[in-house]
Amino acid sequence: MKIDVTLGIDVGGTNTAFGFVDVNGKCIAESTIPTKANNSAVDLFARLKPEVDKLFSSLSNSYTLKGIGVGAPNANYYRGTVENPPNLKWGNVNIVEILKQYFDVPAAITNDANASAIGEMLFGAARGMKNFIVITLGTGLGSGVVVDGKLVYGSDGFAGEIGHTTFDPNGRQCGCGKKGCLETYASATGIKRTVLELLALKNDESSLRESCFNELDSKKIYDAALAGDKIAWEAFQFTGKVLGLKLADAIAVTSPEAIILFGGLALAGNLIIEPTKKSMEENLFHVFRNKVKILQSGLPEGNSAVLGASALIWNEIIKTR
Ligand SMILES: [Zn+2]
Repeated sequence: MKIDVTLGIDVGGTNTAFGFVDVNGKCIAESTIPTKANNSAVDLFARLKPEVDKLFSSLSNSYTLKGIGVGAPNANYYRGTVENPPNLKWGNVNIVEILKQYFDVPAAITNDANASAIGEMLFGAARGMKNFIVITLGTGLGSGVVVDGKLVYGSDGFAGEIGHTTFDPNGRQCGCGKKGCLETYASATGIKRTVLELLALKNDESSLRESCFNELDSKKIYDAALAGDKIAWEAFQFTGKVLGLKLADAIAVTSPEAIILFGGLALAGNLIIEPTKKSMEENLFHVFRNKVKILQSGLPEGNSAVLGASALIWNEIIKTR
C-alpha cells in the first residue's frame, strides 16, 4: 500500500524550503532553493516544480502526493494570495492558482506563524489542545491563534497580528509605520535594540560592547547572559516583561490553555520564559491566573517551517476524511 504524503513549502526572504511529510509529521525528504526575492512568484514556482519532481522521484515508489501547504509572508488563507510582502517583490499574487498549473492536488497557503500553529497542533507541543496561541519570535513577532480547535483567520484572513499591537504609543519605530509595536521589543531584532539602549544607559562592563548592531544576534545575547553578563540578562528580563504584559491581554481575549514560543529567541528557554511568565501572571485578570502554560515549540528545529506548511494541508485533508 502506498503511503500518503503532503508537500510543505516554506517561502523565506532568502531560501524556500520544501519537503514531503507523512500524516504523523515525519519529514521524509526535504531540500531548498534560493527564493530570489527580486524575481516574481511565478519564477519561484517555475523553478520549484522540477526540484519537487526530482525530490519525489528520489523517494522509493511507495508514496502518493495528497496536497500542498505553503507558508509565506503576508499570505491570505481565504484568497490563496500573498499580498505585498515586505521582503519579496511579488506585489499581490494568487499562489494557489499558480500551484494549480503545476500540480493536480489541493493546495492552501497561510502565513508562517499560522502554519507553525497548525504544525504544533498536529505534530508538536499543542497536540491534544483546542485553545492555544503560538508566538514566533524571529526577526519580527508572528502569532497564530487557535480557538476551539480552529485557527482564527478573522473577517479578512489576517487575524492574529499580536506583534503589531501597541506596547508604547510613543515607543520604538516599527517597520509597519506605527510606533511601539510589541515586535519592536519582543523579537530577535527587538532584544538587540534593548541591548543597545541598556549599553547606552549603563556603565556595566559587557562583552556585547564589542559587537556592532549588525553583528549582534539573539544567540550572542543568550551566550553572554549565560556567562553572567548583566546587560544581556537585563535585556532578557525586559523582553520578557513586555511580552508577558501583552500575552496577558491576548489571554483575556481567547482564554488559551497554553502559549507556545517558537523561533530563534524562544531557544533561550527559561531565560526568556521565566520573566515572560512572571510579567504575564502579574498582568492577568484573576480568573486566568496560574492556569496558562508557557511552552517551547515541540517541532524539531531543523524542518519546523516545512512541517508547519505541510500541517496546514494535512489539517484540511484530515477534516474531509
Ligand atoms: Zn508594527
